[in-house]
Amino acid sequence: MIIKITNYPVGIHDLSFTKSVNELHLEEPFIDNLILDCRLDKSQHQIVLKCNLTISVKLICDRCGEEFNSDVNSKFSLIYLFDSSAPNIDETNVKFLALTEDRIDITDDVIDYANLSIPMKRLCSEDCKGLCLSCGTNLNLKSCNCETENNNPMWDKLLKLKDKLN
Ligand SMILES: [Zn+2]
Ligand SMILES: [Zn+2]
Repeated sequence: MIIKITNYPVGIHDLSFTKSVNELHLEEPFIDNLILDCRLDKSQHQIVLKCNLTISVKLICDRCGEEFNSDVNSKFSLIYLFDSSAPNIDETNVKFLALTEDRIDITDDVIDYANLSIPMKRLCSEDCKGLCLSCGTNLNLKSCNCETENNNPMWDKLLKLKDKLN
């Protein structure tokens, strides 16, 4: 994903890219296309790129084990300085550009942020009911008999206790 910076005069420009994940060699869990919206802010001495990355992923739910599709999102900024004599800045997002450079390649950054956006916790929905621990029924699809048997005695006791307290 290359931005030809000489095409843009000093000022703010909104750019949008759509790329297939295959083209960027992004493998599972990524599917379909990624959408990258960037705001490019160019001045005499620097270019600031603020990006918003959205990619579709196919994940397996931690609770119920079903496959589901979801969109993951990542926001990041990249700063390109035209002056290599600038003080040492220990920031991975700050890069130096030779004045003769006419383009920037953001492919590696996009791949890194895509990989960082894969969620640690993967749930098909926030209120996924998961699987019954006794019989393995997917409780999102139907209920099973063990559920009531397991829960009732405890709930009864708690309800009686609550009655007493009231
Ligand atoms: Zn689930
Ligand atoms: Zn069950």
